[in-house]
Amino acid sequence: MKKEFVVIGLGRFGGSIVTELVELGAEVMAIDISSDRVEEYAQIATTAVTADTTDESALRSLGIRNFEHVVVAIGENIQASILTTLILKEVGVKHISVKAQNDYHEKVLRKIGADQVVHPERDMAKRIANNMVSNNILDY
Ligand code: ATP
Repeated sequence: MKKEFVVIGLGRFGGSIVTELVELGAEVMAIDISSDRVEEYAQIATTAVTADTTDESALRSLGIRNFEHVVVAIGENIQASILTTLILKEVGVKHISVKAQNDYHEKVLRKIGADQVVHPERDMAKRIANNMVSNNILDY
């Protein structure tokens, strides 16, 4: 059976996650509040849906709790990111990964039960710097 994921927020990070997951053979539901963004991923994702994920009933009607792993890639709107994560937790999604904007954001996300918190730019910079120091230019 194919692995199924949901990605919420189709900015540069969320959009790249969608593309990579599909390349790896997964089924992906892509969600964004912006119909333009959703349109961009309609041909790439398995399903692409326009929805405000701070609206609990909208999330429930998409059957979100049937997915084991949801990625929240809403960046700038920290309030929307937190509220979305809280709802996902409440409906019982097993694994929630969230992109954090800063340390305060991360602290709140961890408190409400996010399983994985990522800082894409910071994490990638760390990895590249480590590889530079160890002269391992092959694995950026
Ligand atoms: P990146 O750096 O990855 O491009 P970003 O940090 O600039 O991302 P934003 O562009 O603020 O992040 O958010 C990513 C996406 O999340 C946007 O496409 C935005 O429309 C979407 N988004 C924001 N609020 C909501 C919401 N309430 N429900 C669903 N999607 C949302």
